[in-house]
Amino acid sequence: MARFFLPKEKIHGDRGVIDGQELAHLSRVLRLRAGDSVTVFDDSGWEHDALIDSLTPMQGELKILRSYETKRESVLPITLAVGLIKGEKIDLVVEKATELGVQKIIPFVSNYAVPKLDREKISKRTARWQKIAVSAAKQCGRARVPEILPLCDFSWLVSQPWPQSLKLIFWEQESDQSLHQVYEKHHEATAVLVAVGPEGGFTMDEAEAARSRGFEPVQIGKRILRAETAAITALALVQFLWGDLK
Ligand code: SAH
Repeated sequence: MARFFLPKEKIHGDRGVIDGQELAHLSRVLRLRAGDSVTVFDDSGWEHDALIDSLTPMQGELKILRSYETKRESVLPITLAVGLIKGEKIDLVVEKATELGVQKIIPFVSNYAVPKLDREKISKRTARWQKIAVSAAKQCGRARVPEILPLCDFSWLVSQPWPQSLKLIFWEQESDQSLHQVYEKHHEATAVLVAVGPEGGFTMDEAEAARSRGFEPVQIGKRILRAETAAITALALVQFLWGDLK
């Protein structure tokens, strides 16, 4: 059954209105018509079986038949903070992080990731990442779309309190602490923040600044992983240890 994202504000009682990019996907790409059945998910973890009541080029009217909570959200809220890596690679990270159940994604600039992005470009890329997150949520069956937060500085990121979160900085130069050791110290964690650096990695000062703000530095093996590999691996390991990939 075709799945479409429908924010809660477009659902009133047993009626729903679909428009914009989702309507284009429904009518132009999948060529669905009035009378066809669809599934829509809103951004609060609910899914709805619906019937297309009417279709115009501007909007589709849906009749909601059945609503239910999906069981596809991870028990563990994970925030992924990722250094700004090259274009399509961060698109890949957003898509894979969505499939792996992440709740929030925060791109950051740091010493070795100082893109020449102006404000206008940043908002365009944030909008693109949000669209990728919606598509990935549709594909993997989630009814919650990860929130892409605005680009920030790494120094700002580590200075935030992130209450109740176990904060992990995945650092290629950390040789003392493994993820398993962190798990033994913090196995009761109920929320995790994962920080992964850009292609250039973190500076010693950045790693030290994170550690001084309560981040646990973690090495995942002796090989230097590409940033996108590290982000995907870190998320899978965190879901395996604390989340729903046990
Ligand atoms: N340019 C750096 C590597 C950066 S890799 C160098 O050549 O040393 C990009 C990011 O992936 C790193 O900042 C880190 O967050 C993560 N990463 C890569 N390999 C890792 C490892 N073995 N353990 C922990 N994190 C790793």
